Amino acid sequence: MTQRKPEQAEKLTKGLSSAQVSQNREQFGRNILQEAKKESIWKKLILQLTEITSLILLFAVVLSAYMAISYNSGWTKPIVIGSIVVLNVLIGLYQEQSAEKSLAALRDMSEPTTQVIRDGTSQRISISDIVVGDVVTLNAGDQVPADGELKKLNALTIDESILTGESEPVEKTTKAPETAPDSVGDHINKAFSGTLVTHGTGTMVVSAIGMKTEIGKIADLLNTTKRHKTALQQRLSRLSLIMTFIAVVSGVFMFILSTLHELGNPMDNLMIGVSLAVAAVPETLPVIVTISLSVGVQKMAKRNAIIRRLNSVETIGSVDVIASDKTGTLTQNKMTITRLWAFNHKPENIKAGQMLSDPATSLMRLFALDTNAVINEDHAEGDATELAIIRLLHQHHLSREHFEQDAPRIAERPFSSDKKTMSTLHELKNGHFLLIVKGALDKLPIFLSESDSQQLNKIHDEFANDALRVLGVAYREFEKKPVEDIESLEKKLTFAGIIGLIDPPRPEAKKAVHQAKQAGIKTIMITGDHKATARAIAAQIGIYQNDDLTVSGSDLKKWDDKTLAKKIDKVSVFARVSPEDKIRIVKAWQQKGKVVAMTGDGVNDAPALKAADVGIAMGITGTEVAKGASDLILTDDNFATIIEAVSSGRTIYQNVLKAIEFLVSVNFAQIFLMVGSVLFGWGVPLIAEQLLLINVLADGIPGFYLSREQGEAQAMRQPPIPSDQSIFSNGVGLRMFIRSTIYTILTLAIYAFGRFILTDNNSQVGATMLFLTLALGSMIDIYPIKARESLTLKSIKANHALNVALLAAAAIIILVALIQPLQKSFGLVELTLFQWTISLIAMFIPAILLELNKKILAKLKK
Ligand code: ATP
Repeated sequence: MTQRKPEQAEKLTKGLSSAQVSQNREQFGRNILQEAKKESIWKKLILQLTEITSLILLFAVVLSAYMAISYNSGWTKPIVIGSIVVLNVLIGLYQEQSAEKSLAALRDMSEPTTQVIRDGTSQRISISDIVVGDVVTLNAGDQVPADGELKKLNALTIDESILTGESEPVEKTTKAPETAPDSVGDHINKAFSGTLVTHGTGTMVVSAIGMKTEIGKIADLLNTTKRHKTALQQRLSRLSLIMTFIAVVSGVFMFILSTLHELGNPMDNLMIGVSLAVAAVPETLPVIVTISLSVGVQKMAKRNAIIRRLNSVETIGSVDVIASDKTGTLTQNKMTITRLWAFNHKPENIKAGQMLSDPATSLMRLFALDTNAVINEDHAEGDATELAIIRLLHQHHLSREHFEQDAPRIAERPFSSDKKTMSTLHELKNGHFLLIVKGALDKLPIFLSESDSQQLNKIHDEFANDALRVLGVAYREFEKKPVEDIESLEKKLTFAGIIGLIDPPRPEAKKAVHQAKQAGIKTIMITGDHKATARAIAAQIGIYQNDDLTVSGSDLKKWDDKTLAKKIDKVSVFARVSPEDKIRIVKAWQQKGKVVAMTGDGVNDAPALKAADVGIAMGITGTEVAKGASDLILTDDNFATIIEAVSSGRTIYQNVLKAIEFLVSVNFAQIFLMVGSVLFGWGVPLIAEQLLLINVLADGIPGFYLSREQGEAQAMRQPPIPSDQSIFSNGVGLRMFIRSTIYTILTLAIYAFGRFILTDNNSQVGATMLFLTLALGSMIDIYPIKARESLTLKSIKANHALNVALLAAAAIIILVALIQPLQKSFGLVELTLFQWTISLIAMFIPAILLELNKKILAKLKK
């Protein structure tokens, strides 16, 4: 027993060796929960084939094959339509596959990490790399990466609700329970994978990983990998369904109409009905949303914003209020002590190369002893406030270790953002004991005379108004070793002095706040720091304006929800807030119907992040708990990245709207054209193959590339679009109506022109001219649709992939119209140069009219 202990202690400080890690990984595998079985390619294929479009197309193949056999109508039709089914399914599968891949890559990027000791050094690794036997260091805010036994701990509490349903965090010990535990919750000396460290620190040796863990045993139950559709996807599916219904009804109507008019045989008429249905179903629409979302998500990831929930891509574009942390998000989190004041002496400015005065050195001794940050040659560890203390000491050839020689630390209460202080207890050479508490001045339990207190406030405010973060320190000496725990000793302290730290704003913050304002978004600062410091920085970056309010956590407590709701519009800075205050702020804004984004990093921020419409966690300084509760992770902790994400969100939404505008209006026009022509007694102008070719080549493929459109500058100069606003508002519906009408009139006209004026009732010439005008014309229209402002050469050239796809699709259409065998398969005929010229002119008419419409609307607006 006695021999074992040092061995075990060594094991805990050394951890596993690299060789043991690979050996254990080989033996026990990787630390991953088996994901829900992936859908096989066959299943996906069947799903694609059973979609309504494919079903209608397949029906058309069967029908035309039947006609080929029974009526000798030739095999071209079934072959052409069959190929289109195959093409359609292949495109669908490819798109789905690539969207899935990019989302999976994204999941890997936001995989939680954990701190382990291996080969004697502490390192951060992905939790999937954990092996059995690993020594894991747990800190408040971590997600426990595997099951294991706790070996060392300091006030460790863990939220095990995911396993036990018990919402109160459990206090852990290293002692095994005396009676055999009968449920997971009774294992007080163990920590379990997936649970969350809410407080304290601990060291654990991993005993089980992956599916062998407690959570692994219930992983099947937790497998909620079922894909939920986002709000936009749902709306688009609904729109598609309505369109499909209209298409099918028009198909049936066409069939009845042509049968009544006794045009052709019933089989032909059925075929026409079916092809109209096919042509008018916007099959590409739902896919385009998925593609737009996944392209957008990839783009955001490249710009340091990792989306964890697809729905938030849409929500972030409609954010009205961004409640942002100050330290590290709006500021650089690079702190430097520039001033200090040792009590009963004069305030001093700290200048490089200048010696510290004696009172300053005594003050810095207290700060040093009550600090945990470490700076070595190669790395710095600890929070920025403490690093600033250590840096100043090093500049003056001092260190914590130097002071600890005479005052070794015997106990500690770590910093908590609730208490905003931290304390340590030291044993002095004279046998006395020294308690040091450092932290926010208003949270230090000190007692000063009225005049001292006034002087302190005056100096504090001087520091804070210059945007300095102020940290105070106080102490208490005990003659005998105190028996109480350290927290209950924190009273009747003697005040020692303060330091002032500068933390400059991020250079891009001011511009980002300005951009947010232009985009109709209000930015508010939420910080644990002091009101005066916060206000000074908020003013520097444009968040705080002259008649704004700055409110502290204690002011906020005095406001009931009604007062808060009344005044919240005016508040731009919330200082000294607690995590609970954050939830109240989110709720107050939400009650006003606003969409709120909120940033957070600590364990206690998780509820506020969940309550916000878009919870944003910090990638660098954030805890795993905050990341787990968030919708979006900023890998650079930067406020400007949020604004970029808003801009991407708005672009994605706009691109989807553009795709709807592009596809749906022509689908409607096709229905009106077919029905109108039959009503006029002209018969059906376009046959199934022609309609299908237009649908796939001229609409579907270019439509996909709309998802790659860059955002328009204008998108960030408009107020946020309410998330429940109809997709047809803001002029989209009107533009669709105009385009549908233009196409219906134009196609009927060109058909009649070719058939009755240019020739003597040659319907095939009319049909060929109509085919060219509709196919190429609707492709040209993508330009006026994709640019909301008047077209320029720049906006035409902007989307390279789209231009290439359009050129390719146009080339195919022209080849089909020119090369004889192809012409024949698609029921087209040779046109004269004059007929070509007329068609070429006609196809530009819609684009020109759409551009004119923009100009007129712009004028009317003015
Ligand atoms: P935010 O990131 O929310 O903008 P913050 O980082 O300033 O705010 P906290 O980290 O909660 O918020 O700090 C709040 C206050 O706690 C600070 O103003 C400071 O007075 C005090 N404080 C910060 N760090 C420490 C520390 N390591 N030890 C003691 N006190 C600290």
